[in-house]
Amino acid sequence: MEKKQFKAESKRLLDLMINSIYTHKEIFLRELISNASDAIDKLHFKSLTDDSIGLTQSDYKIHLAADKDARTLTIIDNGIGMTKDDLENNLGTIAQSGSFAFKKENETGDDVDIIGQFGVGFYSAFMVSKHVAVISKAYGSDQAYRWKSDGADGYTIEETQRDGFGTTIILTIKDDTEENHYDEFLDEYRIRGLVKKYSDYIRYPITMDVEKERKKEGSEDEYESYIEEETLNSMQPIWKKAKNEVTDEDYNNFYKEKFFDFTDPMKVIHSKTEGSATYNALLFIPSRIPYDFYTKGYEKGLQLYSSGVLIMDKCGDLLPDYFGFVKGLVDSEDLSLNISREMLQHDRQLKLIAKSLEKKIKNELTKMLKNEREKYENFFKNFGIQLKFGVYSDYGAHKDELKDLILFHSSFENKYTTLQEYVSRMKPEQKEIYYVCGDKLEQMEHLPQTEMVKDKGFEILYLTDDVDEFAMKTLGEYEGKQFKSVSSGELDLETDEEKEQVKQQQEEHKDLFAAMKESLGDKVSEVRLSQRLKTHPVCLTTSGEISLEMEKVLNSVPNNQKVSAQRVLEINANHPIFQKLCALQDNKEKLASYAKLLYTQASLMEGLPVDDPVEFSNLICDLMVEE
Ligand code: ADP
Ligand code: MG
Repeated sequence: MEKKQFKAESKRLLDLMINSIYTHKEIFLRELISNASDAIDKLHFKSLTDDSIGLTQSDYKIHLAADKDARTLTIIDNGIGMTKDDLENNLGTIAQSGSFAFKKENETGDDVDIIGQFGVGFYSAFMVSKHVAVISKAYGSDQAYRWKSDGADGYTIEETQRDGFGTTIILTIKDDTEENHYDEFLDEYRIRGLVKKYSDYIRYPITMDVEKERKKEGSEDEYESYIEEETLNSMQPIWKKAKNEVTDEDYNNFYKEKFFDFTDPMKVIHSKTEGSATYNALLFIPSRIPYDFYTKGYEKGLQLYSSGVLIMDKCGDLLPDYFGFVKGLVDSEDLSLNISREMLQHDRQLKLIAKSLEKKIKNELTKMLKNEREKYENFFKNFGIQLKFGVYSDYGAHKDELKDLILFHSSFENKYTTLQEYVSRMKPEQKEIYYVCGDKLEQMEHLPQTEMVKDKGFEILYLTDDVDEFAMKTLGEYEGKQFKSVSSGELDLETDEEKEQVKQQQEEHKDLFAAMKESLGDKVSEVRLSQRLKTHPVCLTTSGEISLEMEKVLNSVPNNQKVSAQRVLEINANHPIFQKLCALQDNKEKLASYAKLLYTQASLMEGLPVDDPVEFSNLICDLMVEE
C-alpha cells in the first residue's frame, strides 16, 4: 500500500511539539481522552436536533484497555467518528490552512498564540508509541477505515471493519529505555492515576477492564480472578455545579483532598464569570499556614483546567505574590489544551482571568474584614505579612489596592486597627499618623519616645514586622495624613511658646551637649534637648531617612551594603538627671562617663546591643562605689 506523507512541515512540527509544547510524556492520554470526549460532544450535539440518533447521555462512554503482552493501549469511544476524508484531513495534516507558514513569516513574540491553536494533541501519542492505529467509522456511514502510522514518516489508510460508529485508537507502546519507562503506560494502576489526575472531570464515563479477585463459589479459601469494568473518573466537577447544589461539606472535603490540608478552609470563593474572561473558579483561603508557606520551596499557583481537563497543576501567573496563599482552580473554555508553560505566560486570556480573579479575592477579603472581623484578624495573623509585602513590592504599584486590607496593632485598646479606623479616631488638632517600631508590643508600649504623643491623647501604631516601616514609607500617606515615626525628626507637638523655651535652653547649654557629643564620638550625630519626653531622662532617636528599625532589617540581609542610622541622643530637660549633667559641666571625665551611660541605656531601651559591655559594667560599678 502506498504510504502518504504528512502535509505541511509535519515532521518539523512533530519535533517542535515533542520538545517544547509538552513537558511530560504522560499527557498523551489526556489528549486522546479529550479528543474522544470532543467526538462524543459532537455526536451528542447532533442528537439534540436529530431524533433519529436516539442516544442519551448514558449511552456514551470512553473505554480503555491495556494489554501488556501485546504492548498495546487502546482507547475506544462511541463518538461521531471519522470518514476517510476526516482521517486524511484531521490526522494527516498538522498545521492546516497555512498557519505554520504564517508563523514562519512572523517570528515575533506573538506567534505563541498561533502554535497554541494548532491541532497537535493527537500527535502526542507518538511520544510513547512505536505505531498508532486509528480505526474509525463515522456516524451514519457503513464503511470503517484504518489509519496507521509509525511517526513522522507518513501514514496509510485502508478499509476495515468496525462494529458501530466511533473511534478506536490502538497505541503500540515503545520499548523501555534507560531513561524512559514506557512500560508504566500499560500498568493499570498508572493509567488509573493519569485519568484521575488529568481527566477526572470529563463528562462521560472513562471505563477500564480491571482484574479483580473473589472467593470461588462454594469454597472457603480458594480464589479466582475475574474482569470487571470500572469507571475511573468522577465526571462531575464540583466547580461546574450551581452553588446551591454544593454543601459546605462538599467544598471542605474537596479542598482537603485536593490540596492536602487537614483543616477546613477559612473561605471558599466559588464563581462563574462571563464576559471578557469566561471561566469557573473555585478558590480557597486556608485557615492555617501551609507548612511550607514561608519557605523558599513554596510555589504559589492555581490548577488550570481547559473545559474540565487539567492543563497545569500550579499556574503561578494566575495569582499575584501577595495573594500567593490562595489555593484552588480555574476552568476556562477559552484556553487551548495544547499550550505550554512558556506560551501561557503570554496568553492574553490568561491575563484577563488573573486580573478578574485578583479583584474577586480582594472583594472577598474586604467583605470578610467588614462583616467577620475576628475571622479576618485570624487570616491576617497568618497571611497579613504577604499583603504588607504587596504594598511595598513593585515600587508601590499595588499600594492603593491593598492599603485598606492591612492591619496594625495600635495603642488604642491594644487591638488591630485599619488605617481607615485610625484616621476616623484622629483628634481635630492631630496632623499626622504616628507609629513606633519594635520587636515586641509590651516593649513598644513603654518606649520613652511615645510619652509625649500619648500625653496629647494621640494614637500610635505599633509596627512589629520587618516589612512594616518599608510599607509605611511606600504608602507615604493615608487620606492626606502623613506617617510619622515617634522616634525620628521633630514631632512638632509643642506650642510656639514651649518651642521657644526649648530653643533657649538648647542655646544656653550648647557647650554641655557639645562635650557629650565629643565623648560619644561618631556613635551619635547629635546630643540635644528632647521635646518628646515627659518622665524618662533619655531616649535615642534618629535624623535622616534611615530609622533604627530599618538599619536592623537592612543589615540583617547577608551581602547587603551596611547602612547606619544617624542617632540622636535626646535628654529630658525636666528630669533631675539633666541638673546633674549641668553641674558636671567642668568635670570633663565624669561628663564623658555619664554620656556613655545614658547612651547605652537609651540603646538598651531600643533593643539594640551594647557596644562595649565591659566598659558599661565598669562605669556602673564606678557609680556604685562612689555612692
Ligand atoms: P484538536 O483536538 O485540538 O483539534 P488533535 O490533534 O487532538 O487536535 O485532533 C485533531 C482532530 O482529529 C480533531 O479536531 C478531530 O477532528 C479529529 N479526532 C481526533 N481524535 C478523534 C476521535 N477520537 N474521534 C473523532 N475525531 C477525532
Ligand atoms: Mg485534541
